[in-house]
Amino acid sequence: MRQTFTYALPERLAEAKIGVGARVQIPFGNRSLIGVVLGEQSDPELATDKIKDIQAILPLESHLDEQQVKFLLTCARYYHHPVGDVFSQALPVLLRQANEIDLRQPLCWQVDPQLSEQQLTETLESINKTAIKQKALFALLQKQGAMTWPQIRLSGFTKAQLNALIKKQLLLESRLPSEVFRFDESVVTEENKLQLTTEQALVVSQITQHLNQFSCHLVDGITGSGKTEVYLQVMEKVLQQNQQVLVMVPEIGLTPQTLHRFEKRFNVPIMLHHSGLNDGERLQTWQSARLGSAAIVLATRSGVFTPMPNLGLIVVDEEHDGSLKQQEGFRYHSRDLAILRANQQKLPVILGSATPSLESLHNAQEKRYHYHQLTQRPGSSKLASMHLVDISAQPLVHGLSHQVQQAMQATLAKGEQVLLFLNRRGFAPAISCKECHWVCECQRCNRPYTFHHNQQLLVCHHCGSQKRVTKQCQNCGSVRLTPLGQGTEQLEQRLEELFPQFNSVRIDRDSTRRKGELEKHLEAIANNEYQILVGTQMLAKGHHFPNVTLVVMLDVDGALFSYDFRAPEKLAQLLVQVAGRAGRASKPGKVLIQTHYPQHPLLQDLINNGYEHFARFALVERSQAMMPPFSFQALIRAEANNAYQPEQFLRDISSPLMAGDCAICGPVAAPMEKKAGKYRFHLTILGRDRKSLHKTTQMLISNAEQNGDKNKVRWHVDIDPQDM
Ligand code: ADP
Ligand code: ZN
Ligand code: ZN
Repeated sequence: MRQTFTYALPERLAEAKIGVGARVQIPFGNRSLIGVVLGEQSDPELATDKIKDIQAILPLESHLDEQQVKFLLTCARYYHHPVGDVFSQALPVLLRQANEIDLRQPLCWQVDPQLSEQQLTETLESINKTAIKQKALFALLQKQGAMTWPQIRLSGFTKAQLNALIKKQLLLESRLPSEVFRFDESVVTEENKLQLTTEQALVVSQITQHLNQFSCHLVDGITGSGKTEVYLQVMEKVLQQNQQVLVMVPEIGLTPQTLHRFEKRFNVPIMLHHSGLNDGERLQTWQSARLGSAAIVLATRSGVFTPMPNLGLIVVDEEHDGSLKQQEGFRYHSRDLAILRANQQKLPVILGSATPSLESLHNAQEKRYHYHQLTQRPGSSKLASMHLVDISAQPLVHGLSHQVQQAMQATLAKGEQVLLFLNRRGFAPAISCKECHWVCECQRCNRPYTFHHNQQLLVCHHCGSQKRVTKQCQNCGSVRLTPLGQGTEQLEQRLEELFPQFNSVRIDRDSTRRKGELEKHLEAIANNEYQILVGTQMLAKGHHFPNVTLVVMLDVDGALFSYDFRAPEKLAQLLVQVAGRAGRASKPGKVLIQTHYPQHPLLQDLINNGYEHFARFALVERSQAMMPPFSFQALIRAEANNAYQPEQFLRDISSPLMAGDCAICGPVAAPMEKKAGKYRFHLTILGRDRKSLHKTTQMLISNAEQNGDKNKVRWHVDIDPQDM
């Protein structure tokens, strides 16, 4: 529902503290729900006898402040999203419910300072020799000081290991302080601070000139150029002012190193916000941030809503990353919201990337952002070189060209590691009949099922439906069914045949589903237990593999001829990011890209001239085609159980409109016309400026709200969509 509702404050609550941002319990139909006060009226438009009473005011500690309410209302307006859902998405799950909640600070553990040296040594010796992890956890706590459970878990330890140390009475349990964070000399661990390079020092000094006011800084630095060190040193200046810092990253579970670097530098309460936390843990982050006791919040996408009264800086690392955009429900982009928030709260925001989005580069060119470049890697490590391998006229062995196999042999023989990148999980992307070429498809999506060999399952990667492997062709009855194409699961199996003397490991969503599995794999890779790494784009994100000196991209051609105008940008980013994983140490790395189209201008430009050059030309192309960021886009998507209704609905709501300053295209069928049993269509609205885009979108929404079919189709608005 897009509207808000009016309630009365009954006599019995007249004395209570209530204002904008208060959480209250209200009757709604025959239910009782949680509401947030958005405003006060002494003279409501509704007849007073129609207005129901607020039932209760919930604890003060759980209320939002005016700043947050203002921010969320702006979000709702900008994204044309129902305001109630915006508030609901921004609140931790436990605050969307009326149940009693525990608002105490989180527990943390440290090595008991009362223990004498002798007690320590004795107890440590008594820990079983095989309990290496217990000892490692103990050492970590000795180094780190107090840590919360989410921090300990992210460092790769289990509850059992923590409990074992507690049982041996080695640890002191307490709660994180609830006092507002104050800087003192113990905060910064000086010995872990790096001497900045000239480039880095310049960026740090330029950014710190702009503290306590809104400014947006794009730090465009090649992989390994020391962007993180720049963040850390700017953060230090902000912490010195007793302010809080919000750091946004695309993934946390995948990249525990980020947290470690913050922990090593700053001896302050750091709270996490990511999908691996349970509801209680998320509430604790919210609460510590809100109290001002959490100095640093390290968060993924939805962490942009974390209340932080003393916020002084927002960092958005890997600002180009697609996962910063929420792709369902309230479809916001958390980089854009971070900028909006920084603007409202008058503070600087840093966007960092080795492959900045074209949007951000354009804003920098237009001087809306400060632009900072880091062009060198500190120390001696070199960027990997990229080479194209033409596979148009040669047979492949299990997807590998002759040149790639040779390069693999040579690298492995030197004792170095190889990373094979294939963005397709499962064993094979389809199974098909050898007699009649029938392909086993998901009926709900009209797309082939992916064959998962280990589980003997057919899984639809679009809607998640599964079934047991079919033994017989449903078209001709033949039993000669065969897998088509190759996914990571199959590649891993074939590698064991091709390189029997080496161990390979696969890293994708299937192989890391269980808790702790990814950490285990990463650790084993670091210890050189595996020589060949196979993975999907999970492997492109943030990891350091110092001994990987060869990266092979097996299948990039799909992106060269995509309907999505962003596909070239995404491919270029992926190639550069993956290349950044290789050869970080003193050993130079090499990237081989297998393609049928080695002459393709995108690939040629990227290989010969680098990302910056590619991006500059891509922007010229976008400008000629009047595509974002030179125009502004919105989509209205509609879906229903048949193909007729959503198309008709979109036609109905758009036909009475004079487009004015906007172009309205469609309705057209979505690139995937049928998904999970629903037929999907959309309208694209293209405006020269934001104002006309918003006006037209608003008119379309009003038409939709009044449309007689609005309940037969599901529809939503996507502002600045990232995909069709
Ligand atoms: P990025 O975030 O740009 O990919 P990192 O911050 O991870 O780069 O830095 C890459 C490597 O360079 C790290 O091992 C880091 O410790 C090192 N490094 C960064 N800045 C310096 C510096 N000023 N002096 C020496 N080493 C540095
Ligand atoms: Zn058949
Ligand atoms: Zn499906």
